[in-house]
Amino acid sequence: MDYREVASEQEFVARLGHGADWRAEIESLADDEDVDAAWFIAMGAVQDADIWYYDQDEKEYREVQFDEPLEVASCVGNISLLDGERFAHTHAVLSRRSGQTLAGHLDSATVFAGELYMRTFEEPLVRERDQPTGLDLWL
Ligand code: ZN
Repeated sequence: MDYREVASEQEFVARLGHGADWRAEIESLADDEDVDAAWFIAMGAVQDADIWYYDQDEKEYREVQFDEPLEVASCVGNISLLDGERFAHTHAVLSRRSGQTLAGHLDSATVFAGELYMRTFEEPLVRERDQPTGLDLWL
């Protein structure tokens, strides 16, 4: 395990734009405020979603698309730098009309409504390809 102490810097709350992409909205906030490291939580609803599942044997993401209204019962993620770009690593638990849930790595989703809280850190977090997992993990 690698760990470091972080000093929190700023906090933001944001309302995500109706019709915008969920993850792009979070990255847009990070770009606007020059945030290279942060942790966030969010909730709301989306009109569709592309969820990725990481196949640990194949070391590849599998995409699953849902074209239906979903509640964002919970969303958690962080901001870090990937190939020099700000990347919002985003996971979500989504619920259907029935109350059943879907969950995973949220690649994209069309915002119906969304509320975000973000706490930023002073030092940047940087991702790089990790050999054992095939994932882009923090250095
Ligand atoms: Zn993920």
